Amino acid sequence: MIYVGASGQHGRGVFAARPIAANTVILVFEGPLLTRGEIDPEDYHLQIGADLYLGPSGQADDYVNHSCDPNAGFGDGLRLRALRPIAAGEEITWDYSCAIDEADFAGFPCGCKAANCRGLVRSFRHLSAADRERLRPWTLPYLRERYR
Ligand SMILES: [Zn+2]
Repeated sequence: MIYVGASGQHGRGVFAARPIAANTVILVFEGPLLTRGEIDPEDYHLQIGADLYLGPSGQADDYVNHSCDPNAGFGDGLRLRALRPIAAGEEITWDYSCAIDEADFAGFPCGCKAANCRGLVRSFRHLSAADRERLRPWTLPYLRERYR
């Protein structure tokens, strides 16, 4: 269904190998469970709890890029679902602010080129109230619990 290839946005990315229908589970994030003290900041990691991270799995889930106008998102755990129909060859993206929530995360410049690009990828807690409300359905469960 997907393949890892060169991304115009950032290094490698994940692409649809064939058309993907809306709501299809595209992939499931996996990897070793780590605390913040155990992660390698230079290596891929995904925040999934207040002090809980997934380290690199070595699979495609390590290479899915961010977009402020993503075509995929979470909703029921670590399964990444298509938010709309995705065309063959289209890059799969999700909004990293739906997972990151570190008090001291300064953010990094966003290169997604979406019309609604926020310019900076930041922690969920640092988004505007309007953005938090808009993204809530696609955030990881721990964030929906924390920010009701
Ligand atoms: Zn952006």
